[in-house]
Amino acid sequence: MLAAVTRSPGVMVVGQVPEPGPPGPLDVIVRPEAVGICGSDLHFYTGDTGALSGARSVFPRIQGHEFSAIIEQTGGDCPGDVKAGDRVAVWPLRGCGRCYPCRAGRANACVSLDLVGIHRDGGLQQLLSVPVSQVFGVGDLGPEPAAFVEPMSIAVHALGRAGVGGGQQVVVLGAGPIGLAAALAASAAGARVMATDPVPARRGLALKVGAENAAWGGDGELLDTVQAWTGGWGAPTVIDTTGDPGALAQATRMVCSAGTVVVVGMSAATAPLRSGVFPEKEIDVLGSSCATAPDFRAAVALVQSHRETIAALFSHRFPLTRAREAIECVADPASGAVKVLITVGGPVS
Ligand SMILES: [Zn+2]
Ligand SMILES: [Zn+2]
Repeated sequence: MLAAVTRSPGVMVVGQVPEPGPPGPLDVIVRPEAVGICGSDLHFYTGDTGALSGARSVFPRIQGHEFSAIIEQTGGDCPGDVKAGDRVAVWPLRGCGRCYPCRAGRANACVSLDLVGIHRDGGLQQLLSVPVSQVFGVGDLGPEPAAFVEPMSIAVHALGRAGVGGGQQVVVLGAGPIGLAAALAASAAGARVMATDPVPARRGLALKVGAENAAWGGDGELLDTVQAWTGGWGAPTVIDTTGDPGALAQATRMVCSAGTVVVVGMSAATAPLRSGVFPEKEIDVLGSSCATAPDFRAAVALVQSHRETIAALFSHRFPLTRAREAIECVADPASGAVKVLITVGGPVS
């Protein structure tokens, strides 16, 4: 069968790999359909693994952690409601079950996080075996929106960290796919959203997914915009999806006293911060890593009810044979890429 194999940093080769054997008793064999490519795929592809959870990278690797798939075969002990032919979204995460976060019910922050498509082979191949506990039925959702469940789950988890609720004002820094998912999910929860992004087309999408305000400008100018939008108080919640270390300092200035900043975007760089801002404003600055199973389930429901809006985020599509071009498209600021999809499909061999 066909797979896109990242052999070493910057080297992705599409070629034949062996098919998986029969599924284990609690595993399913799935046939990936649409695979989303995101910033962390790019970090992995370029060997910038310092910016990834776990920081382990083993080449060669078949990437792809945001994907929809059709169940091909189920293991003998799988629950009866999981059937061949069902379309699923794959929750890529499994925890070790032994570390403190795993024992505390927060496997999404496991110290030896194990993600499909990063720490083990993922969706950029025609068949793969995954534990049945990691597949979530998506009902009548099409393959492309179903591939957006994973990025949506990241947004759901980040908003959950901040306890975002109805009527609250939320600033989302960055209107890439995760920022847009956060803007959509927060708006759907009844929050009022302002998004920031330097790219006008992305600001346009932020308004389309439910933000009431989308802005850009210098640091002082953006701060003024947030102050004006919040009646001079600052925002109760700021979600940073940029992966830009400078954005964290900006977020601590935008957030109101007693407010919450959630950092979702990943970076290996150091963020310069004035530490006095923490006690002065008594702010909470929280990290958000991946998503839990309940977040993933909530993301399925959100994508189901906003599938038309989400379709506007799919900017580019490539077949599996051109997977490398898809990654390069995400990397190229001039491409106008928002969510880039790779279509796997096709008969095996
Ligand atoms: Zn991703
Ligand atoms: Zn663990």
